[in-house]
Amino acid sequence: MLKDRMKPGARSYSFEFFPPRTDEAEEALFQLIAEELRPLDPSFVSVTYGAGGSTRDRTLRIVARIVRETDLIPVAHLTTVLADEAELSRIIDELKSSGVRHILALRGDPPATLPEGKTTIHDPNFQHARDLVELIHRRAPGHFSVGVAGHPEGHPESKGDLELDAKHLAEKVLAGADFVVTQFFFEARHYFALRERAIRHGMPPDTPILPGIMPVTNFAQIKRFAELSGAEFPAWLEEKLSVHADDPSALADLGIELATKLCEELLQGGAPGLHFYTLNKSPATRQIVANLDASQSRIG
Ligand SMILES: Cc1cc2nc3c(=O)[nH]c(=O)nc-3n(C[C@H](O)[C@H](O)[C@H](O)COP(=O)(O)OP(=O)(O)OC[C@H]3O[C@@H](n4cnc5c(N)ncnc54)[C@H](O)[C@@H]3O)c2cc1C
Repeated sequence: MLKDRMKPGARSYSFEFFPPRTDEAEEALFQLIAEELRPLDPSFVSVTYGAGGSTRDRTLRIVARIVRETDLIPVAHLTTVLADEAELSRIIDELKSSGVRHILALRGDPPATLPEGKTTIHDPNFQHARDLVELIHRRAPGHFSVGVAGHPEGHPESKGDLELDAKHLAEKVLAGADFVVTQFFFEARHYFALRERAIRHGMPPDTPILPGIMPVTNFAQIKRFAELSGAEFPAWLEEKLSVHADDPSALADLGIELATKLCEELLQGGAPGLHFYTLNKSPATRQIVANLDASQSRIG
């Protein structure tokens, strides 16, 4: 199982994708996975799930195809927003029968308006990701290894109460999650502080927490993502990057250099691996992994 590849010092890499909208884009994604990312020996590849089920069929199809056509381990994201127990149970069953063994259990973000036919955002029994962790284990005892999300700078809804947010993370783990993947962030200290807080709130210290890495390759996009996720976009970073605001290639090079430094700091501080938000592109991720491998072989 995956947990073995997330032991301290494992230096595992994992890659996250979103399900493409067209058949052509799906083929291109599979090619990218097989030809460009497979050689990096990822511990897993994960496929996001549009909250409210907007990508349900595509997410399920892609993870099933990864099982059938590759030797990679897929992690299927699943969210509770706008879903009830019957629907979540059907999806869990389908993932099980496709041979998927890993789920990232999430709550998802509520939509701005309720879609037609829906009357509530959260089923009262599925208000939080922890409820999904419990359902997965009830529904398919012993089958799935479950991961959950961690928020190094606190989830935006926790409004700065980092302790409470970490307590909720510890509760998700104690409810049956085997590993944590974090929201992206730009300063390593946020990751280490989250780890300490969660352990203080009862999370077993050996729980693997994979830091989420989002290399900056597009200035406007990363600022928007940071605003949505609650990640602080530090002034020093903005200052460095804005020098290249009109030069996409120089900006991407600098983004890769800064992300490499962040990754090195995280691995040196004991992070068991790195989880890359690839946005379905590989150049930045591949370059960072190459930089890390080169610096590792210099040290080793
Ligand atoms: C690695 C990663 C992958 C993601 N993938 C997806 C995806 O595929 N699709 C998607 O739609 N979204 C995805 N998201 C976004 C995620 O769904 C949002 O951040 C969402 O708002 C919170 O999800 P969660 O699972 O952390 O929720 P929760 O753990 O339920 O936390 C949400 C808020 O509720 C609080 N809370 C938790 N438990 C309790 C409790 N028992 N009582 C009171 N308050 C509580 C928390 O402190 C937090 O403020 C991802 C996020 C990460 C970090």
